[in-house]
Amino acid sequence: MSATLTGVLGPQGPIEDSALTATNYSNFEKFETMPPNEVIKWAIDNFGEDVVLAASFQDCVLVDVVTRVAPDIEVVFIDTGSHFKETLNYVDDIRARYDLRLVRLKPGYEAAKFPCGTDGCCEMKKVKPFDEFLKKNNVKAWISGIKRVDTAERNNAPVVGIDQARGIVKINPIVRWSDDDVESYSKLRNLPVHPMTAKGYLSIGCAPTTKPVELGSSPRSGRWSDQEKTECGLHLS
Ligand code: SF4
Repeated sequence: MSATLTGVLGPQGPIEDSALTATNYSNFEKFETMPPNEVIKWAIDNFGEDVVLAASFQDCVLVDVVTRVAPDIEVVFIDTGSHFKETLNYVDDIRARYDLRLVRLKPGYEAAKFPCGTDGCCEMKKVKPFDEFLKKNNVKAWISGIKRVDTAERNNAPVVGIDQARGIVKINPIVRWSDDDVESYSKLRNLPVHPMTAKGYLSIGCAPTTKPVELGSSPRSGRWSDQEKTECGLHLS
């Protein structure tokens, strides 16, 4: 395990501070030095059933980190209809391994009009189903696996902040981790790896817009590699 990961993971254990609320913006800074397990514990203490975990299933690191604290948390996977069959099989394997409360969101019929790779495609196949799910279920907070090293847009992402577009709390427990931290954690916990990782697919989204990555290149460089686009829209606020 890297020194960085040792520092941020910390021991599993209770935390005292459960008084923060979604509107108490000034206290969000204190999460910057809090280990992921404590951040997740805070989320569960404050939001209970109203916090969900959104998982892309390019690996199961975040699922493992979160379910060690909150084994019954609802896990949301957005099935755009364009995933690699390997990803869908991996989702099934991880669901069974962790006995996950898994919700698979699917786009509406109108999404078929939007070709893969266009902004409208992500909007209709990812953002809209997710937003509708959050609203319908009165979700107050969501947990994501983004990291600051992923993209320039994520450089300043907080550990806990407000998702401005949705008006709910967004929690990024491993946002400070490097790609090496993720790999180290996965090895340390002996986690199952997505079968395409070994083929150079280091960031895995939909099949039409995901390519393997050159040795030494950023893991995200294989996503929308022939476009300016770097984000699907789920994480823009
Ligand atoms: S990642 Fe690509 S294929 Fe998937 S919804 Fe977005 S644009 Fe469409």
